[in-house]
Amino acid sequence: MAVLPILTQEAPILRQKAKRVARVDDSVRKLIDDMVDTMVAAPGVGLAAPQVGVGLRVLVIKTDENLHALVNPEMVKGEGEQIGPEGCLSVPGYVGEVKRFLRVVARGLNRHGKTVKVKGDGLLARAIQHEIDHLDGILFTDRLTSLDTLRKVEPEEQEQKAELVGV
Ligand code: ZN
Repeated sequence: MAVLPILTQEAPILRQKAKRVARVDDSVRKLIDDMVDTMVAAPGVGLAAPQVGVGLRVLVIKTDENLHALVNPEMVKGEGEQIGPEGCLSVPGYVGEVKRFLRVVARGLNRHGKTVKVKGDGLLARAIQHEIDHLDGILFTDRLTSLDTLRKVEPEEQEQKAELVGV
């Protein structure tokens, strides 16, 4: 278990398409554990492997008591829409308005290599879409409803609303 450094937007790996994981083995389970430690320490509600310098399709999310770790995640369904502030651990100190599906279903492999589905709405749905974007080299700043909505977050606001900035 280890807290890893989180790369910021200048890092080329954040603009590359991550590779599918061929087999969920101990090295992938260790990556998941380290990503969870890193996300919790940030603190954040989600993290994708490229953010810690690993070009593999792995994400972790914790928006409530439930921890989700998905390998090779895919969106199965997206419904409705939500428009709201979003930030990113790799774009520290900024939030901007992004439109996302309100409810999603994603499918992937869990830490044991079994296929699982994750259903979410609201923040969980937003985090799933944000993290899958990371695996395709897309940052939230590419998806702003308008560039004018990008703004700096005050430090106090950042403390109160980790969910705004921590994905
Ligand atoms: Zn992010």
